[in-house]
Amino acid sequence: MSADAAQIQGNSMADLAERFGTPLYVYDAEILERTYRELRDLLPDAVDVFYSLKANPNISVCAFLNARGAGAEVSSYTELITALRAGVAPRDIVFLGPGKDPRELTACVEAGIHAVICESLDEIRQLDALVAERGRGRFPVILRVNPSFSTKGSGLAMGGKPRQFGIDEEEIREYKGELAALDHIRVMGVHAYMGTRFLQHEDIVHNTRQILAAAEDLAGRVGFPLETVDFGGGLGVAYFDNETDLDLAALGEGLRRETASFAARNPGCRLVTELGRFLTATAGTYVVRARYVKESRGETFVVADGGTHHHMAAVGVGSFVKRNFPIVHLSRPSEPPAQRYTLTGPLCTPNDVIAKKVELPEVRPGDLLGVERSGAYGPTASPGLFLSHGYPAEVLVHHGRAHLVRDRDTTEELLLKQHLIDFDDTQ
Ligand SMILES: *Cc1c(COP(=O)(O)O)cnc(C)c1O
Repeated sequence: MSADAAQIQGNSMADLAERFGTPLYVYDAEILERTYRELRDLLPDAVDVFYSLKANPNISVCAFLNARGAGAEVSSYTELITALRAGVAPRDIVFLGPGKDPRELTACVEAGIHAVICESLDEIRQLDALVAERGRGRFPVILRVNPSFSTKGSGLAMGGKPRQFGIDEEEIREYKGELAALDHIRVMGVHAYMGTRFLQHEDIVHNTRQILAAAEDLAGRVGFPLETVDFGGGLGVAYFDNETDLDLAALGEGLRRETASFAARNPGCRLVTELGRFLTATAGTYVVRARYVKESRGETFVVADGGTHHHMAAVGVGSFVKRNFPIVHLSRPSEPPAQRYTLTGPLCTPNDVIAKKVELPEVRPGDLLGVERSGAYGPTASPGLFLSHGYPAEVLVHHGRAHLVRDRDTTEELLLKQHLIDFDDTQ
């Protein structure tokens, strides 16, 4: 544990907590920048990086990454509008998701985004009809493939299984006639996403090779040009003791090898990798304040003002043994560990455990604690309305200055959405 964790670009966490209140998400733009650059430097020039807003939909985070060169991968109407308002050029936006509605498809067409990534033949036909109504020529479509191969290495394996995502690879092979009958769309690419949290570079390289091969195969059989191949991403970051970060040098080497031969056969084809977690996770810290420190049958609990309603990932769903995110003591960073604490939040459920039995310097009520590597799938993937707490404030530190990039939800805002009806019980 380093004293460094207690400040960001010269702003002490204590000051930030004082100024913006807790619980609080703090993002360090220097880390966002460094992570993006590191990735950019290792990727072949032919590969474009698209930021998956799902991981952290904050408009300033999106704008920051876009200003450094990242496009956007969006999956809802609001994410699309967020990316556009953040300044992402339409040609650098793709829209995917298994349940797009007509409003979303229309917005894609109106904005003129790079392509809609379609996940069923029905969806392609809907899009075709919608474009026809608007008389807009042919709209670019990328086919999302549910690959016939599967991969290990991801916590969430895709491919080779029945899935609501994409179109089965075997199925697409038979689509020549169906697609040729549609005059208002233009299939021009292939997309596949093999899962998330990959930490072995070999798995990612292997996936990429398979996806590029499948894309060439499908384009050849079905007869469409290969103008874009989006080979997913799913690059992980290490959260737990038993994990290590990706070997980026080896990943870069592998990806350069796989894409070089592909690019030679498909000159001009745009390659895209879409990444959420990898780009933002390490830049974020969830900051909470200890309210009570109490004992129960031999275990010491720190009850903090923030919990899993803002950081559901810390619950560790799906794993049998509770594994802890990296926790830092922000008020006493340089003191040696004193004992083990279980860090819990304000929710009335025994599942509201951020970390179980972590070694920390002594914790007293009022101390600040940070959950590191929390810049991805934090608020966006958490039940913020549980117990009507609402979502926390978010702060981005850039060039040494702390900017509030999201207001904390207020009680009035939360209640505004509800309607107290007039129960006329007299009749
Ligand atoms: C969730 C998702 C992403 C982003 O995944 P990360 O693991 O956060 O990089 C990209 N593409 C698709 C299709 C997704 O579902």
